[in-house]
Amino acid sequence: MARIVAVANQKGGVGKTTTAVNLAASVAASEHRVLLVDFDPQGNASSSVGYTKDRIELSIYDALIGDVAMQDCIRPTEITTLFVVPATMDLVGAELELIGSENRETYLKNALATVADNYDYIIIDCPPSLGMLTLNALVAAEGVVVPMQAEYFALEGLGALCNTIDRVRDAYNPGLHLEGILFTMYDPRTNLAGQVKGEVESHLPNMVYETLIPRNVRLSESPSHGKPVLLYDFRCAGSKSYLKLAQEFVDRATAAAA
Ligand code: ATP
Ligand code: MG
Repeated sequence: MARIVAVANQKGGVGKTTTAVNLAASVAASEHRVLLVDFDPQGNASSSVGYTKDRIELSIYDALIGDVAMQDCIRPTEITTLFVVPATMDLVGAELELIGSENRETYLKNALATVADNYDYIIIDCPPSLGMLTLNALVAAEGVVVPMQAEYFALEGLGALCNTIDRVRDAYNPGLHLEGILFTMYDPRTNLAGQVKGEVESHLPNMVYETLIPRNVRLSESPSHGKPVLLYDFRCAGSKSYLKLAQEFVDRATAAAA
């Protein structure tokens, strides 16, 4: 049975997709079977592993709303143990269609349940909102990884997200918990970065990943080549940081499961 993790933060552009893609690829590189679920209509996670719009036949929308089996929407990637369910703009429609239906929060959970036995980890890339799609991801998941930038207003956003996690846990998903907070595009030279990190650490002890993701141009270039950073430039600081994160992530998940 896979461990299902959502990568979420309602703030845009904080590194959710970069983290979902490169964490998935780095965990897969250590021979775990990983399914990356693109759950954002922008489809950035899909194109980051080579599935641009023109290459997507079936998407997560078909598994959610259509009569298509989840299994049939899964595609291979260049990494043999990494698979992806792509997303397209159709997913915007799913958000509206779900609002009118019964058990609207459990669609993704039910779809993933049909394939979960085939993977060690399922990593869901969420859109930048706390709407119906993110709700579905939080109901399907066990853990939430929160990428954030070390900026002043990031703290307020984190509070709102933690409240949402608490509410989803109480109403729908008793096992849901915060898996970890990841600082992205981190610049250790600024005082603010250190201050924000310190504050988050004191509010949420043991939650901040020791691994810090630096700003690294390779990480921003690799999506346009349709590759996780590992396959684009194995030696760059971005690759190294996500490989280190993968180790920490797997260690934490293994400890939690024991
Ligand atoms: P959205 O909310 O729109 O889904 P997001 O939270 O998924 O955004 P990303 O798309 O991962 O964020 O990152 C936003 C931008 O920052 C992208 O152009 C990405 O390439 C770049 N980026 C992310 N992380 C890094 C990094 N560590 N170093 C350099 N650039 C980065
Ligand atoms: Mg994104």
